[in-house]
Amino acid sequence: MKDVRLIEGNEPLRRRRRGPDKDEGCFVCGETTSDGKPVCIEHLDQIPEIVAIEGKIRMIDAERERLATKGARGVGRDSILVREVLGMLKAKPMSIEKIAQDLDLHENSSRAIVDVLVKRGIVRLERTGRGRMIACLT
Ligand SMILES: [Zn+2]
Repeated sequence: MKDVRLIEGNEPLRRRRRGPDKDEGCFVCGETTSDGKPVCIEHLDQIPEIVAIEGKIRMIDAERERLATKGARGVGRDSILVREVLGMLKAKPMSIEKIAQDLDLHENSSRAIVDVLVKRGIVRLERTGRGRMIACLT
């Protein structure tokens, strides 16, 4: 009797029993999913983490573009690439070439980012014993 009432109410049974976080089926279409995934196969591209990553990739691409055309003036205040560079330099000092390589940037672009960070006083350039310039956090 109870179950019939729930089905008639058009509310998935599992939703009532399990709460909002688990086994609700695809959050886009409500289709059953496997392994507790939040979406069905049709809607894999709607997973929030993937949407967020795609958004980030688009933003980084736009930044690459701005850097390539405008140089240091293309470095935005909340630049993702600047954050990436700072994260990398936190781990260890790096050359502009290596930064460019790791972030798949043109060397001029990585130099532009480092220049901005040097101007902001966050990064300084040092010459290594072998005469290479490396960027490190101040
Ligand atoms: Zn779906």
